[in-house]
Parts: sequence; structure tokens; C-alpha cells
Amino acid sequence: MKRGRLVVISGPSGAGKSSICQRLLEMPELNAQLSVSATTRSPRPGEIDGVHYRFITPEEFDTLEESGGLLESAEVFADRYGTPQEGVDEALINGKTVLLDIDVQGARTLREKGIEGLYYFIAPPSLETLEKRLRDRKTEGPMSLSRRLAAVKIEMSAQDEYDHTFVNDDLERVSGEIRAAILAFKPSERGDPEQGEVP
Ligand code: 5GP
Repeated sequence: MKRGRLVVISGPSGAGKSSICQRLLEMPELNAQLSVSATTRSPRPGEIDGVHYRFITPEEFDTLEESGGLLESAEVFADRYGTPQEGVDEALINGKTVLLDIDVQGARTLREKGIEGLYYFIAPPSLETLEKRLRDRKTEGPMSLSRRLAAVKIEMSAQDEYDHTFVNDDLERVSGEIRAAILAFKPSERGDPEQGEVP
């Protein structure tokens, strides 16, 4: 079986990363799977443990990290988030397109580790749109909202580190463009499926 592709998706909170990932998951030709991160943040209403995140305590996070179970981790908006190594390895071996919705620090770690993949940045059409989206979705309390808004400029300044920036002014068009870019990407043979590890 051909090894799958790793697709890293970053961008400020409210730029539409989750919606884009959902659209990509609906495209059978991509054979995509979203990596379920571990986090110490509390679930939002409607979020399901094991589906949206693995919601764990800071102690459990430490144990997971110390045992080498995380491909990368970062502190984002005062909570900790990390990508479980095992799930990613397995999905790549099974030829899946693995989507990682992670922040700019996590993406940097993966690049520093030399992990091959497509690194995409999702930008909002304008800062005003982003702020409106974040406020309208009403998922954050006032503290979390202001933390997220304060981080936008820092995150936006990292976009040059990515293979491409997609401006999310139209979910369908952008998802279609990302789909085409993923299908055009041919992973090298570096990652030996027999060995299982992400290179
Ligand atoms: P949220 O709390 O809105 O779900 O996510 C906050 C930020 O954490 C988002 O930018 C999201 O991309 C990032 N994030 C989610 N999971 C991970 C992860 O496993 N690693 C890193 N580095 N960032 C993550």
C-alpha cells in the first residue's frame, strides 16, 4: 500500500480550519482522517471525548508526553495540546491523508523534526471578519476570546513559514483548492511503511 500524506493546517482561531477539515473529510478521493489531539482544555458544549479531542488532565498529559507518545505538543491559549504519535503513524501506513489541525508552534516542531508533509496556513479575509466569526460562534468566554484575538497577529506573522496560504473567503472554493493541492502531492518513499514511524 502507498504511504499516506501528512497535511498540516494552521491559522488563527476563527479562520475556519475546522470547517475546512470537515469538508476535506467528506471527499472520498482524499481518504482523509483527522488526527485527534490530546488537550488539557475543557470540552465545549457538544464536543465529544475521543472525537474532537482526547480531553485529559495536565498529569495525564505529562505522562503521555514523557512516554514519547506525542509527535509534537504546544501550549496554546494557556492550555496544552499535542498530537498522538501512534494514530498518525498508523494512518499513514494505511495510506490515509492525515490532517493535523495544529498551531504554528506545533507546525514548527514538525518542520524542525524534518517531517515531510504539506504545510498550509489558513488566513481570514480580514481581521474584522475573523473577529466577527469568533464572536458570533460564541464558543469562548470573554477571557478566552480576548486571548485568541490577541494571538491573531502573532499567528498571522508565521504564515511565510508555510508552503501556501489559503485565504478562507469561500469555504467551498478554498476546500476545493486544498483538495487539488493534496492530490497533486506525491510523498517521497522516505517513510518506509514496514518501519511504521513518521520519518
Ligand atoms: P481550540 O481550543 O480552538 O480547539 O484550538 C486552539 C488551537 O490549538 C488551534 O489553533 C488548534 O489548531 C491548536 N491545536 C489543536 N490541537 C493541537 C495539537 O495537537 N498541537 C498543537 N500544537 N496545536 C493544536
